[in-house]
Amino acid sequence: MSVKELSSKLKNRELKAVDLAMATFSKIEATESDLHSFISLRKEAALLQADSIDAKLDKGEELSPLAGIPITIKDNMNLRGEKTTCASKMLENFVSPFTSTAVQNLMDAGMVVVGKANMDEFAMGSSTENSAFGPSKNPWDLTRVPGGSSGGSASAIAAGQVPVSLGSDTGGSIRQPAAFCGISGFKPSYGRVSRYGLVAFASSLDQIGPFGRSVEDIAYVTEGLCSHDVHDATSVPAPAPQLVSALTKDVRGLRIAIPKELFSDEIDDGVKGPVYAALDVLKAKGAIVEEVSMQALVASIATYYIVAPAEASANLARFDGVRYTSRIKDAANLTEMFTKTRGQFFGKEVKRRIILGTYALSSGYYDAYYIKAQKARTLIKQSFDRVFANFDVVISPTTPSAAFKFGEHANSPDKMYIADLCTIPANMAGLPALSVPCGFDNGMPVGLQIIGKSFDEATVLRVGDAYQAFTDFHLAKPEAYA
Ligand code: GLN
Repeated sequence: MSVKELSSKLKNRELKAVDLAMATFSKIEATESDLHSFISLRKEAALLQADSIDAKLDKGEELSPLAGIPITIKDNMNLRGEKTTCASKMLENFVSPFTSTAVQNLMDAGMVVVGKANMDEFAMGSSTENSAFGPSKNPWDLTRVPGGSSGGSASAIAAGQVPVSLGSDTGGSIRQPAAFCGISGFKPSYGRVSRYGLVAFASSLDQIGPFGRSVEDIAYVTEGLCSHDVHDATSVPAPAPQLVSALTKDVRGLRIAIPKELFSDEIDDGVKGPVYAALDVLKAKGAIVEEVSMQALVASIATYYIVAPAEASANLARFDGVRYTSRIKDAANLTEMFTKTRGQFFGKEVKRRIILGTYALSSGYYDAYYIKAQKARTLIKQSFDRVFANFDVVISPTTPSAAFKFGEHANSPDKMYIADLCTIPANMAGLPALSVPCGFDNGMPVGLQIIGKSFDEATVLRVGDAYQAFTDFHLAKPEAYA
C-alpha cells in the first residue's frame, strides 16, 4: 500500500500501527535470508514506537500523514542507542550516542524505524559488495547486485519488506540502486536535508533522501525530512517545501533538456530504448523535449574521483582506534596502533579512496589534481546554469546499464565507477535528482533520471509523479516477492 493509503487506514483506525509493524517484521523475517537488506533490526523499539502512535491516534490526536508508517534507514545514519556500523569492521560495535536530524524529524512525525539497512562500506561502492557483512541481493534476480551504496535500502523496498526507506547519495547512491531495483529514489538539493548525524563520506556532495515505490510516497517522506538545522552549516534556512500538493500530474509546456553526453556509446542500447520511450510519453502529454550539449559532463567521473576521495581521506581520519572505533590489540606503540587498526578494519575500497584522496591533497599535487578538479566542478555547475536558463528539467538514463551480476566488476574499479556516469553531475552541482523506473532490459529494471534546478524539488517530483500517472512501470514487482 502507498503511504497515503496506509495513512488513511491508520487514521480511521482500520489499521493499527502495531499490526502494520508486526506485518512488516513478518515479511522481513520471511525474506531476509535471501536478500540481506538489513544490518540490524530493532523490533522491540519499533513496536513500542508503533504502540505510542496507536495511543495518540486512539485519542483522536491530529498527526502527520507519516505517523505509524514503517521505514528503514541506511546504516550510516545515527540513531541513539542503536549500532551505526557503516557496513565496516571499523564501526562494528559502535553504538550511536545521538540521533541524526533527518531521522529525528521522521520520528517526530511518528515514523516507525524498523532497522538499519545494508550498504557499501562507508557508502563507497555501487553494488553493496563492499559491505563488510556481505552483500544485499537484487529481488528481481538474486544473482545480480541491487546497486549501491544504499543497496539494502533499495532491495528492502523492491521486495516489499518496508514501504519506504532512507539512503544517502554522494555520487548516485540513492538513484543508482533505485534504478537497479525498479523503484523510485530521490536525492534532494544539497542543503535541503540536514547532514547532521550522517557519517560523512564527501561532505560537499553527501545528501540524504528517500526511496519508495512511487514518487508520491517520496514526496511525503521528503516533506518530513527537510528542516533548517543549526547543526549543519550547509543546511538552508528555509521551511520544508510543499511537495505533495505540487503533484499536479501536468507536464504541458514543460521544457525538457536531454544532454547528448548522457546518451553516449557508454550507455547500453537496452537502457536508451526505455528512456527514449519515456520521453515520448512526456512529449505526448505536452512536454517539449530538446537535445542539448553539456561538454563539461564528460569530466564528471574523473572530477568526482578526485573530489570525493580527497574529502573522504579527511573525513575518515577520525577512525583511528581511539575514538568511535574498533582497535587492534597487540600494538607496541601509538603509531603502530593507528597503522594496524586502519590496516585491519578498513576494507579494500575504503583504503583505495583514502590513498587516492591523500595523494590528491598532498603538497606538489594539490594544484594539479584537487584544484583542477574544483575548476572542472565549477564548469559542470555552469553548464547546468546555462541549460536551466531555458529548460525546467534535464532528463537522462539513471545508469549506463541495468543491474550487473555479483563479481562482474569486482576486480575492475573503473568499470564499477562508470555506474555513476549519469548521476554524479547532480551531486557536483548540488541539484535535486530523481530516478523512476521506466522499463526493462532483459527482465531487469531500467531507471529514468530527472534533474531539476537547485531547490526546485517540486518540479522534479511533479514530472516523476506525472510520468507514473501515465505509465505503470512503478507498479511492477519481482515475481518472487509480489
Ligand atoms: N558509487 C559511488 C562511489 O562509490 C557513489 C557512492 C555514493 O553516492 N555514496 O563513490
